[in-house]
Parts: sequence; structure tokens; C-alpha cells
Amino acid sequence: MSTPSHEHPEVISHLTKAFAFPISAYDGLVDQFIKELHEGLTQENAMPMIPTFVYELPGGDETGVILSLDLGGTNLRVCRTTLSGKGQFEITHKKWTISDALKKGPGKELFAWIADRIQEFADVYCLNEQTQATYPLGMTFSFPCEQLDINVGKLLTWTKGFRGVDVIGQDVVKILQDQIDARKLNITVNAIINDTVGTLLATTYKHPGCEIGIIFGTGTNCAYLENQSAITKIKLGAPNFASPTNMQVINTEWGAFGNKSGALPTNQYDAMLDSRSSQPGKQLYEKMVSGLYISELARTVVHDLALKGELFMDASGKPKTDAELGDLAVKERFDGAMMGTMEGDNSTGLDDIEKHFLTNYSLNTSQSDRETIKYICQLISARAARLSAVGIAALIKKRELLTKPKQVIIGIDGSLFNKYPNFRRHLEGALNEIFDAATVKAKISLIHAEDGSGVGGAIAAYLTCKERCYFQD
Ligand code: BGC
Ligand code: MG
Repeated sequence: MSTPSHEHPEVISHLTKAFAFPISAYDGLVDQFIKELHEGLTQENAMPMIPTFVYELPGGDETGVILSLDLGGTNLRVCRTTLSGKGQFEITHKKWTISDALKKGPGKELFAWIADRIQEFADVYCLNEQTQATYPLGMTFSFPCEQLDINVGKLLTWTKGFRGVDVIGQDVVKILQDQIDARKLNITVNAIINDTVGTLLATTYKHPGCEIGIIFGTGTNCAYLENQSAITKIKLGAPNFASPTNMQVINTEWGAFGNKSGALPTNQYDAMLDSRSSQPGKQLYEKMVSGLYISELARTVVHDLALKGELFMDASGKPKTDAELGDLAVKERFDGAMMGTMEGDNSTGLDDIEKHFLTNYSLNTSQSDRETIKYICQLISARAARLSAVGIAALIKKRELLTKPKQVIIGIDGSLFNKYPNFRRHLEGALNEIFDAATVKAKISLIHAEDGSGVGGAIAAYLTCKERCYFQD
């Protein structure tokens, strides 16, 4: 990272300090993370650490044709997956962007819209040559749900800016199934899983031995395989919770790390973002790590500097007003992909940044403005990657995975990990700082979970009904 040539160097040093994440901070934060993971397993009102009804991971030899749904923070996909064994699969999907109106409107309307999309997909792709009573569908749902069975998920809260309060506390499988039935579709939603559980299942299908699945995308979260005896907050032996394997997948909902403890190294911009968010005080780790929020953080900083006359100054010598800043003054009008493009701009004149500000906000930028903006993106994403490594390290240490002879395989999916320039490099660098480079190289594999949510949903549906359903090959 080279230091930008700003007219007031103190502006740059202030930013550098605000987003700094010194190596000395790792150990304390990793320990605190382990503590919060543990509290979540043993008591209520802590990190959610939601027990799922997934007790076994796939062996890779599963075969069949299964539908799945992937409701993420940005897109909806309906998928038809053919599992062909030996860790091989093929997937056909259709994808729609979820509009702002759907995200912020009533939940019932969102689910009706989803059922319409399933119908649209089913008409084209699969369900005419019916040979089975009903098609199983695995629902990958990227929001926290309390599970009462593999096919029951009570929405605990929306995250990532979704707002449909009418469905909070309700079983989203039932809501969707009612909509599917109203359309007379021959489909049964027989499993609901979090996208991190999907990532874990999909990675294990290809790479047996994987025990951790993570999303670094619009939001962030992690699921992993835990000894059931460690989950003391559930009553062991309760009818639905008797794991045949003594193991159980936990959806950590680690985005909530730091909510209560105040352990995260937040600054004034984090506080601004949090106070303007739809859930102040919640998902604090997610707000420093994931794509939706880091781009909003970048916008917050750029906007703040503009109002203070530290960016976009012209001959008039007057700072820009909100009216002149246009969309730059509006929440969430700066997306992660754009932020990635700006950070990845290596041209001398930073042409992508220039073009972006001119076309989207009608703002002229000087070379110094562009360097400062790039630097802001770099600071924020590097901090996000380091904090991400803290979560990974905490899981590895908690499960004592490095002391075991086998390789530590971690399945990861999400736009930040897959697309954001430098994110993966910074993440790996941070793991090297926490453990040591030789250990990381020899023992830890970060694997991109190819289509974790789609395939994972299909595998969950498969595992649920392998005894009961007939699968076409
Ligand atoms: C949700 C999680 C989800 C994650 C990644 C978070 O906002 O709470 O359930 O796994 O985003 O999509
Ligand atoms: Mg997703």
C-alpha cells in the first residue's frame, strides 16, 4: 500500500490509525473469539451457535437429481443439481437479483415472489417428466433461523438490510411450502440449511475431511462440525436432538461476535455505519468484515471527507454539499464490486476510479483524490481480511485441529473471497501471522467451495430423504 499524496498528510495518518490492526492485537482477539464461541454453545443470549439437524457429512458417493433454492443477501437462485458420485456434480440454475423493494417490503411478498421463480424454473427445467411423487427441494437460506427439525426454520432476525418483520419468528419453510402448494407444484421443501452449512456440505462432498464452511460475501458466517456433548445448552437426548454420530453441525452466526463484549477495534466510521444501519448494535463483526458493510464503510469515509473539504475540491474552495455529492451521500449506493474495481485499479492515473466517480456521481477527481480513495478501500479491506483470519484461527484452535494428523480443510464461498482483489492474499497473510507460515502451508487448505449454497442445499435434501425418495439418475 503506498501512501497517497494528500494535501493534508494528517488526514491520511488519521485514517491509517483508525483502520490499523496491529499484529499484537491478534492473540487477544482470537482468545476472545474462542470464549464467545464457547459461551454460545453453553448459554442463551450469546453468539447464536445454532444447532442444526445435520449430523453427518456426505461421503461423496451420493447420486441423484435434486432441486435447491439459494436465497442469499443479493440474489435468488433456483438450481437443479445432478450429483453423480465421486464428488462430481453438475448444476443448472437460474438467478434473479432481489430488488430493494422485495428486501425491504413484507416477508410474505418476498416468499410469494420466490415461489413464482420456482415455478418459472420448474416450467423450463425439470418437472414435466414426472417419475416421482414429489421433488425434494433443499432450501439454502442465508439468515439466522432456529431449527426445530431439518425442515423447520424459525427466522430469528433478518440481516443484511432485509426488513420483512411480518415473518420474523415464523417457520420460513412452511411459508414457502404454502406458496408452492398454492401454485400446485410437485415440490416438497424437505430441508432448510444456512448457506455456511451448504458450503460445508458441498466442500465435504468433494473433499472428505472438511469440517468448516465459511461465507465471506454480502454477509459473513461460519458453520462447523462440533461434538454434540459440547453443546450443553441443548437437552441431550431430546427426541429431535439425538445425533446418531455424536457430532452435530453448528451454524455459529459469527457475525454477532463482539456485540456484547465490545472486543472489536471499532473507530468513528464503524460507529457511524452502525448507528445508521437497520440493526444498530447487532452483527458488529459482520459490519467490519463482509462485502455489504465494507463498501458502506468506504462510502461513509469518502462522504465524510468530502463534506469536510478533504476530497473533490475545486477552484471555488468550498466543500461539496450533500446535494452536489448525489448518490455518494446515500446509504448503500456504493457496492462491493465497485469497491473491488477501485482497489484493483493499478493504472497510473487510476482511470477506473476517475470514471466511476464521474459516471456515477458526476464528480471530478484529482489524482490525490483518487489515491486517497484507493487507499481508503485498501485499509478497510485489509482490516476485514485480518479480522476474518481471527475467526478462522479461533475455530481451528477451539477444535484443536492443528494437533490432529489430518489436513485442516476449510470450504469458503462468497463474493468477497472469490472476487475481491487481494482479500484472499491478505487473509492468508494474516493466518501466517497468527500461526506461522510453515504450519499454514503444511496443514491448512482454504478451498473455494464451488457453488456451495446450490450444491449444499441439494446434498442436504438428499441426506434428508435418501431413504424415502426415489431419485432419477
Ligand atoms: C447471516 C448468516 C449468513 C451470512 C452469509 C449473515 O448476515 O446472518 O445466516 O450465513 O450472512 O450469507
Ligand atoms: Mg450466497
